[in-house]
Amino acid sequence: MREAGHAVRVVRADPRMVKLTHAEDELLIATLLERDRQMRTGTGYDVHRLEPGDGVRLCGVTIPCDLRLVGHSDADVALHAAVDAILGALGEGDIGSHFPPSDPQWRGADSALFLRHAMALVQARGGVLDHLDLTIIAERPRIAPHREVMRARLAELAERPLTSISVKATTTEGLGFTGRGEGIAVQALATLSLPRADFGS
Ligand code: MG
Repeated sequence: MREAGHAVRVVRADPRMVKLTHAEDELLIATLLERDRQMRTGTGYDVHRLEPGDGVRLCGVTIPCDLRLVGHSDADVALHAAVDAILGALGEGDIGSHFPPSDPQWRGADSALFLRHAMALVQARGGVLDHLDLTIIAERPRIAPHREVMRARLAELAERPLTSISVKATTTEGLGFTGRGEGIAVQALATLSLPRADFGS
């Protein structure tokens, strides 16, 4: 180029500019792009009280029984823990800071709305929810028969494949408030992949 009288300038390469010739080249690009992303995890925990009622709402599914969860919104303790885990991975505060319980507009709200909000934040940051793992701690109602339905509903709400969602349940062997059936607790762990640039490194 210089011989032809043109100026030559050095520019920073973009991994996406690698020429695709062989199958291995594709792997190289995938590796380089992966380097631009970072994994983040967040945890969530929530508890709601049980009282006599006509069904318990968990993961957007109503389990028919003689109990219900009490709360300002629909009290879906599983979705609340999931939202907090996602917000935690994003470093975006907690569910209460996004949807203050003092705000009357969230009274009786469908908690699916909170999850969609959290997922919109993930998308806005160019992130992907790689995995969401919930542990429901309850003596009653029995979770096992509804576990797969809840998992499917959660996958649907998060718009993620079923393989990215896990719902587990346990009891506390009759111990503590969950064991006495006074409430249900849920633990959540969210794993996101986010653009590395998002963290300034
Ligand atoms: Mg809650």
